[in-house]
This record gives sequence, C-alpha cells and structure tokens, in this order.
Amino acid sequence: MQGSITGRTLLEPKSLADALRMLRDEGPLVPLAGCTDLYVLLNFGTLRATRFVNLWPLAGLRAIRVRGDVLSIGALATYTDIIQSPLVRRRLPMLVAAAREVGGVQIQNRGTIGGNVANASPAGDTLPVLAASDATVVLQSAGGSRRVPFSAFYTGYRRSVLGGDELIAALEVPPVGGRQWFRKVGTRAAQAISKVVMAAVAPIGDDPPRIALGSVAPTVVRLPSTEAALAAGASLDEAQRLLIEEIAPIDDVRSTAAYRSRVAANLLARFWNDR
Ligand SMILES: Cc1cc2nc3c(=O)[nH]c(=O)nc-3n(C[C@H](O)[C@H](O)[C@H](O)COP(=O)(O)OP(=O)(O)OC[C@H]3O[C@@H](n4cnc5c(N)ncnc54)[C@H](O)[C@@H]3O)c2cc1C
Repeated sequence: MQGSITGRTLLEPKSLADALRMLRDEGPLVPLAGCTDLYVLLNFGTLRATRFVNLWPLAGLRAIRVRGDVLSIGALATYTDIIQSPLVRRRLPMLVAAAREVGGVQIQNRGTIGGNVANASPAGDTLPVLAASDATVVLQSAGGSRRVPFSAFYTGYRRSVLGGDELIAALEVPPVGGRQWFRKVGTRAAQAISKVVMAAVAPIGDDPPRIALGSVAPTVVRLPSTEAALAAGASLDEAQRLLIEEIAPIDDVRSTAAYRSRVAANLLARFWNDR
C-alpha cells in the first residue's frame, strides 16, 4: 500500500445529526461509508484528504422502505441489502440486477449505493438504473434537506451538486410501470468495471421508453432523442443512429470509443427486441 493512515483523523458521529453538525462545524471532512472506493485511492497513494467522518455505523441511513408510493433506499444500503430486499426485488428489479454484477461478494457486502452515487464515476453500475427510473437524490445538511432530480445531480466528469456540508441520505424512486431491463458489458463476470452499462424501461400505455447508459460520456446519460424516436415508431436503425449522436465515448484503459459505440447500439437492439 502506497498511502498511509498515519496523520489522518477519523471522526465517529453517534447519530446522523451529529455527523451533519461535524460536517458543518469541523469541516472540511470526507464522508466514509463502505470505503471500497476510498481504500483504492489510499492504496494508490492518491487519497489527499486527511480528515474523515465515519458514516458506516449510522444504521438509520441503511433503511429500505416504501413511503406513499415512493421506494426510499437509504444511502448506506449495501449491494447485499439491495439484493436481499423484497421491496427492491418487487419494485426495482433492474437495481437488483445491477447490484448482483458489482464487484464480488466482498464488495457487495461493503459497497453502498450512496457511495456509488457520490463517487460520481460515469461507470458506476447503479447510475443508469437511477437515471432510467427518474430517481431523486435526497441531500441532507445541518440546515435541512433538499431533493435533487437524479438528472440534475451530476454537473460534469466526477462532479455533482453535492455540497461539502451535505450527505446523500437516500435515493427515492417513484413507481416504474414498464418492464425493466439491465445489461453490463465488462471484461469478465465479476470484479470488472463496465465498458458499457445500460438500464432501460419498456414503453407502457402513454409512457415512452426510458434508456440510460453509463461509461459512454463524462456522466451517466439519458437518451431523450432516441427515446422519443422509438416512442414515435422510428425504426431500430434510426434509433441506433440517434443513440450514437447522444453519447460521447472515449478511448481509455478499459475500452475504445468505437467498441463502446458498437456495444451501446447493440444493447439498444437487444432491449428493443426483448421488450
Ligand atoms: C474490487 C472492486 C470492485 C468494484 N466493482 C465495481 C463494480 O462492478 N461496479 C461499480 O459501480 N463499482 C464498483 N466498485 C466501486 C465501489 O465498490 C462502488 O462505487 C461502491 O458503491 C462505493 O461505495 P462505498 O460505500 O464503498 O463508498 P466509499 O468508498 O466509502 O466512498 C466513495 C465516495 O463517496 C462519498 N460518500 C460515500 N457515502 C456518502 C454519502 N452518504 N453522502 C455523501 N458522500 C458519500 C465518499 O466521501 C467518497 O468520496 C468496485 C470497487 C472495488 C474495490
């Protein structure tokens, strides 16, 4: 390990209110949840922050419940919590499918959905699911809470509207009517970051299809033109042409832009033919 824990401070709040007060009065502090992303940075020697606040024991942030008709998933819910939740299985099976493909069992036991969202990687596997399900991010600070539509949460590559004194408290998901669909394409079945990841919802009644892609742009993307064209009866060829215009993949260590474009178009065809 190139990084060291020497000289770093970990604050241990007893409650959510305590954690929010620490963020307001004793910051800047980096929230620490399952640590599966933070430890990678520590291992590489690129974790510059020195002061942390430990969210892991705050059990209240782990709850998964339905309030009214909205599914609320606490930020500290792990992938294992999600996989095992009857509520998520019934209401948002594409999130269960995504959780099953994250890392391996160890990562699923520690990694949290709030950490995946806050980490803001365009390759985060839960992000297309949250985008396609029109989720809301619930942010909390000592001053109160605010709800941000998932579509407005990211402002650029690894940037979001999350303030330095705020925590992600929960992800809220309204009922999803159409059939849900999720595919991740990576190098292998486990412990692989996605080359392309897609979540989609089939059209139902007057509701058009919803399609979101990860790893093909600086942030997760919805495909409004592709969705509208399919809803209006466009051919699959035309929809694939529009999809290519709506993404901006790059060459990097995991894949090439050309491969990502081809795979994204193929996934669209698979989703549309499966619906
Ligand atoms: C071997 C390995 C395999 C992996 N495989 C995958 C994969 O297949 N797919 C995938 O998407 N990811 C993968 N990851 C990445 C990682 O596991 C996920 O992003 C995970 O969800 C991060 O959650 P965490 O609780 O561990 O976050 P942490 O490491 O604790 O935190 C990550 C970031 O989020 C912030 N944060 C955490 N919780 C909150 C909160 N409630 N409010 C505000 N900020 C917060 C932290 O300050 C930090 O900046 C993998 C990682 C490893 C090491």
